[in-house]
Amino acid sequence: MKKKLSIQTGYPKPEQTNSKPGKVYLVGAGPGAAELLTVKALKVIESCDVILYDNLVSEEIKSLFPANISKLFVGKMKNLHSVAQQNLNQILVDYAMKGLKVCRLKGGDPFIFGRGSEEMLTLKENNIDVEIVPGITAASGCTSYAGIPLTHRGISQGCTFLTGHTERDPDFDWQAIAKLDHTLVFYMGLSKLEFISRNLVTQGMDADTPVALIENGSRPSQKVVSTKLSDLLNGNSNHQLKSPCLIVIGQTTELREQLQWFEGDSPVNNLQTEKLAPYSWKRTMSA
Ligand code: SAH
Repeated sequence: MKKKLSIQTGYPKPEQTNSKPGKVYLVGAGPGAAELLTVKALKVIESCDVILYDNLVSEEIKSLFPANISKLFVGKMKNLHSVAQQNLNQILVDYAMKGLKVCRLKGGDPFIFGRGSEEMLTLKENNIDVEIVPGITAASGCTSYAGIPLTHRGISQGCTFLTGHTERDPDFDWQAIAKLDHTLVFYMGLSKLEFISRNLVTQGMDADTPVALIENGSRPSQKVVSTKLSDLLNGNSNHQLKSPCLIVIGQTTELREQLQWFEGDSPVNNLQTEKLAPYSWKRTMSA
């Protein structure tokens, strides 16, 4: 049987630092590249007493964690259940009650498929001070690093973010989604590729609609597969992609051919560029 982490045994209890109530920062870490952290996120990471983080937080970002503070992994581990959300909420409350400055670090943005609002509701119910530090969400960060615009004049006038993972299969109005003519971005959809594509095609989306699958977006191991909706009807078997993976559906994905600029560690990214003088606002304003 799989073990469950319990609050009593599963997390370290840092010493109370002062008698004032603490504060919880729900911090977005962005899609993985450390340079995509906001200045505020980095300040919180560097000044907090404890960090609670999960799977989406990249190795590069973890290497920025101060050595002398408590770090608690609260994501999914092989052979172990993740810390249940209810327990996690309680851990956040407990730490803050001890007067600690708590950094709850999440991949992307805490309010986009990140359960940040659920954690905040519990913290508010317990009168704990909370601050949100928004992060670059995968839809924005991964598509930018793949050279895919979410909108483009004359091609896509909007974008829609959806989740492929709900307790049961997502119960969308597929016909309405298929007709939107937006760039569709599916989070957590890798295991539902067949389900998603079949619903869209059945409800009228052209099976030739281009698609990009972005694995490990913005990270050195970034991999992008450009394909067509019809190809996804067989699930992931052709491409062997791994999580985290973002599914982007729509005509703008074809612009990658011209706009591609980052390929992880590949040579495209290591081009020597001429060093430019720092940009000067004064120069622009006096011109
Ligand atoms: N709060 C996060 C999303 C959490 S849901 C955000 O705003 O980005 C987790 C899903 O996000 C993953 O299953 C994947 O679909 C997507 N994702 C997050 N980071 C990613 C990355 N670096 N590359 C590809 N997909 C990513």
